[in-house]
Amino acid sequence: MLKLNRRLLMQQCLRHAHNQVRVRFAPSPTGYLHLGGLRTALYNFLFARHLDGKFLLRIEDTDQTRLVPGASERLVGDLLWAGIEIDEGPGFGGQLGPYVQSQRTMIYSKAIEELLQNGTAYRCFCTERRLDLLRKEALRTRQVPRYDNKCRHLKTAEIDSLLAKGTAHCIRFKLTDHEEPLDDLIYGKVYHNVSDTEGDPVIMKSDQFPTYHFANVVDDHLMGITHVLRGVEWQISTTKHLLLYKAFGWQPPKFGHLPLLVNADGTKLSKRQGDIGIQSFRERGYFPQALVNYVVSAGGGFEHKAHAKQELLTMQELFEQFHIDRVNSHPSRLNPELLDDLNRMEITQRLSNKESRFKLIHQVQELVKKAYPQHPNLDLAEDHIVDVLNWSSQRLTLIQDLTSSKLSFLWVKPSNFQLKNMTSEQVDVMLTLLNEIQDFQKEELNVKLKNFAQEQNIKFPLMMKALRAALSGLKEGPGVAEMMEILGKSVTLERLKEAVPKERIHLEQNQ
Ligand code: GLU
Repeated sequence: MLKLNRRLLMQQCLRHAHNQVRVRFAPSPTGYLHLGGLRTALYNFLFARHLDGKFLLRIEDTDQTRLVPGASERLVGDLLWAGIEIDEGPGFGGQLGPYVQSQRTMIYSKAIEELLQNGTAYRCFCTERRLDLLRKEALRTRQVPRYDNKCRHLKTAEIDSLLAKGTAHCIRFKLTDHEEPLDDLIYGKVYHNVSDTEGDPVIMKSDQFPTYHFANVVDDHLMGITHVLRGVEWQISTTKHLLLYKAFGWQPPKFGHLPLLVNADGTKLSKRQGDIGIQSFRERGYFPQALVNYVVSAGGGFEHKAHAKQELLTMQELFEQFHIDRVNSHPSRLNPELLDDLNRMEITQRLSNKESRFKLIHQVQELVKKAYPQHPNLDLAEDHIVDVLNWSSQRLTLIQDLTSSKLSFLWVKPSNFQLKNMTSEQVDVMLTLLNEIQDFQKEELNVKLKNFAQEQNIKFPLMMKALRAALSGLKEGPGVAEMMEILGKSVTLERLKEAVPKERIHLEQNQ
């Protein structure tokens, strides 16, 4: 008890002395972080940073049957990747831990004792079999299954005797039919009388593990949480949580429920769809800031500027501009095309900064090496990569797309291709001509190459075929002029020089 009191004291000090906002993200490690989870974590983080508060991570692992090994670590990895900083949490320090619920069982047992003593909770000895019969009977009479609160009325002597026999039991919370209004930060006033639809809920299972509702309330209180922002699917539970706060005599935090995140057509996003997992976005090559802006664009929370150009905001800009009262209360529709636009913007943004450009170049080098492990002769010069990225930022969505087979010519240098159908003098004229072009764009290149073929009396299609082979070693691919544009002037000239017929080089060397 002493320990619990010390905790309470510390938590009260934190809350009152600094009057600091404290929010938490409280995932269950039962799977991967998906878009919905990222949205909840992100809004909590933005809210905390906007108000100079703290963002906590708490792992809710009381349902031991649903645990997925490694899920917590991956979850943390995804949050950090997205740019969400954890102020307190497992492995991140903080004075009000532990931040993993399975390590807090003593705390819950003491809190349960408090409710048993003040008469707002009771022991329930009903067997699984009885509960099952109740459920079946409800279904038969087309009623919503609910516990009939039988054990509420057990006499002390009955309880003592059952306990003496070591009868398995759980602890239930006495729902009062007092309607506790919820003043939702996003939805406004919400009324729901839980006891109308539910029987007394289990707050501690017979295995001594608390249920979500109980542990969640105890922890939010002891961790000094001032605001709870979570998905709207929890809104019904919140009315129950308010009754628990009342039973303890605690001041509840403020609650705000975030609307459903849905597909562009209004259909539900499914957790089971692998492609809404943050890992999947990462693997496909989306950048974190693009993903964060994408999520925010659906959920709102910012001043709406009509007809304003879409921007890619930094995390700092996002939290400076965030306002909880601007969060939408209607379902948040995701627009995947926007994500692609945002990702292109992030490529451009990363190119404009020396440090991030360097990292991006390195990332591309690694991707290409992975895509062409057998090629000793890859074109991975930094300038070349920057040219390619500049070209691609208007056309491609993901840097991964740069390794598609259609674009292999960007990286794989052709070997032993010689320019046919042209004399060495003609090749010289062409190289000089190309060198003089300032704006190395496909339109201009096309005109110049056509004129050149005409002047030199070379068959244009044959010349283009030879150029394509010399530039890419391929028979097919983008138009030759476009290929030149993508490769840029210096790589184009370099590759064409490499393809000058060998006898000629031989001759030159002997001169
Ligand atoms: N553990 C719950 C979840 O998995 C937390 C809900 C809440 O934020 O209270 O979403």
